[in-house]
Amino acid sequence: MKYPYFLPELPYSYDHLEPYIDTLTMQIHHQKHHQTYINNLNQVIEKYPELQNLDLENILKNLENIPEEIRTTIRNNGGGHLNHTFFWEILQHKEFQEPQNDMLKKIIEDFGSFENFKKEFSEIANKHFGSGWAWLVLTKDKKLKVYSLPNQDNPLMFKDTPIMGLDVWEHAYYLKYQNRRAEYVENFWNIVNWRKVEENFQKAFLSF
Ligand code: MN
Repeated sequence: MKYPYFLPELPYSYDHLEPYIDTLTMQIHHQKHHQTYINNLNQVIEKYPELQNLDLENILKNLENIPEEIRTTIRNNGGGHLNHTFFWEILQHKEFQEPQNDMLKKIIEDFGSFENFKKEFSEIANKHFGSGWAWLVLTKDKKLKVYSLPNQDNPLMFKDTPIMGLDVWEHAYYLKYQNRRAEYVENFWNIVNWRKVEENFQKAFLSF
């Protein structure tokens, strides 16, 4: 993704994730929150022509090369754009899915079982304090790992590759779930697009 950045269309309709994520939350999350990250990102990059031809992933992987006076703005809004674009694609509600083949084998290898992986990921999502994301990543030593990051930080900033992520900012669930984040996290498992997550995993695994 390069400047100028645009809001990507959702790969489904706003009501597609009902009842797990409600239509109004999806509309506001996509049209207002995601769009705002994009507007802020474009606004700052407009003034820095040397950044306009760089790929957003590379910018975020090498934040130390970004001029200090705009580094936090790029980190927050560039991260916001990348994270949300990534998030929309790993959700679906056409059919209940579970991981298969190589991805499932790797989950069992690194977490003991699929159930245990779900438990660890959910715990991390539930325990994260404040705004942020729960992540499943592939590390440099080819291990699957779960952790949370604050704000709009992305695992690429820490040299890990994101495979799956869950937005735990209140704006992602508050209209429907209010303070019941655990219920939102539990329902997330009904709408994971495992075929897309597997694709992310294969791409990351083969890129070493
Ligand atoms: Mn969000």
